[in-house]
Amino acid sequence: MRTIGYAANAKSSPLKPHVFERREPRPNDVCMEVLYCGICHSDMHMVNDDWGMAIFPMVPGHEIIGRVIAVGSDVKKYKVGDNVAVGCLVDSCMVCDQCRNGEEQLCREWATLTYCGCDRIDGSITQGGYSKHLVVREEFTLKVPDSLDLSKAAPLLCAGITTYSPLRTWNIGPGSRVGVVGLGGLGHMAVKLAVAMGADVTVISRSASREAEAKRLGADRLLVSTDKAAMEQALNSLDLIIDTVPVKHDVNPYIPLLDIDGTLCIVGQVGPMPEFDSSPLLFGRRRIAGSPIGGIAETQEMLNFCAKRNVLPDCEMITIDQVNEAYKRLEKSDVKYRFVIDMASLKMA
Ligand code: NAP
Ligand code: ZN
Repeated sequence: MRTIGYAANAKSSPLKPHVFERREPRPNDVCMEVLYCGICHSDMHMVNDDWGMAIFPMVPGHEIIGRVIAVGSDVKKYKVGDNVAVGCLVDSCMVCDQCRNGEEQLCREWATLTYCGCDRIDGSITQGGYSKHLVVREEFTLKVPDSLDLSKAAPLLCAGITTYSPLRTWNIGPGSRVGVVGLGGLGHMAVKLAVAMGADVTVISRSASREAEAKRLGADRLLVSTDKAAMEQALNSLDLIIDTVPVKHDVNPYIPLLDIDGTLCIVGQVGPMPEFDSSPLLFGRRRIAGSPIGGIAETQEMLNFCAKRNVLPDCEMITIDQVNEAYKRLEKSDVKYRFVIDMASLKMA
């Protein structure tokens, strides 16, 4: 089917309208009209080819809310008119131990990404959610619970699951002490989700100016990483730190904030990091870990959790023609806290 999106045609180039073909739905496919799509910092990394994975023309977008307009003959869970969602993955091998375990994001054969992925059947390059329509196999389509505000739910599909998954992996609940570094799209979701799970939450920031914001989002306190005395006082005070900083950065100041057996989980920077001192790891049995998005079942669990607990991101709605301006602002951390594109603003030519 013919559709329209906004695409980058070359590395670091501005996004422009782009007409392209989506596949006709296969028997197990769901075809949807995209209603809303969030802008993740990863979209910007991909357009700038920071990770060497870019394929152009590239229609980014992996925080997708849509409405079903057609289904293939084998589709059982969805019908025309249903509200659905798609995150960072659109397929995986489905037979390896990780896929069978509901951890498609860890597929041994690599999961197929929503954009810049290679379709497992016809080899075509996948294109993301900054587009009018999307065709995705049923198993990678999620149900949007009725009570979730559609206009705000899109960022849950990446920022939400990427922070929910480590909170669940490390069994966060009442009495847990969680630190969050980097109060952006992922960071503000980490705060809201950890608070909803009953944790005591500390936002760790470079600047004291974030205190009121951190508290408004539900955090118990702000710890200023440049305040030596405050950092000293906070030694051994956290069980889990979720680090969302999108660039290479020094984690040495954060490690001693962890208590014995605590974990610093990196979800932001993908790639080289500066050296770190192993002594606080050895002497405190502390760990540095990483975590990529989450599996399909866990993503559905997260959507259901957010619907039940009314956990939603703070969004700034934009029209598709504002996307390049939004990228410039995201670069400067000038957004509270996620841009969401109202896809009704994208008209078929
Ligand atoms: P974002 O909205 O831009 O937020 C990043 C935050 O990090 C900023 O708001 C800022 O918060 C802080 N920050 C920015 N530059 C910094 C610097 N130079 N030093 C220290 N802190 C800095 O980005 P996002 O969408 O949350 O994404 C964050 C990162 O996660 C990106 O690299 C993205 O690619 C990655 N990501 C990973 C996964 C995964 O599966 N693991 C999934 C999605 C995204 P403060 O003002 O509080 O310092
Ligand atoms: Zn993302």
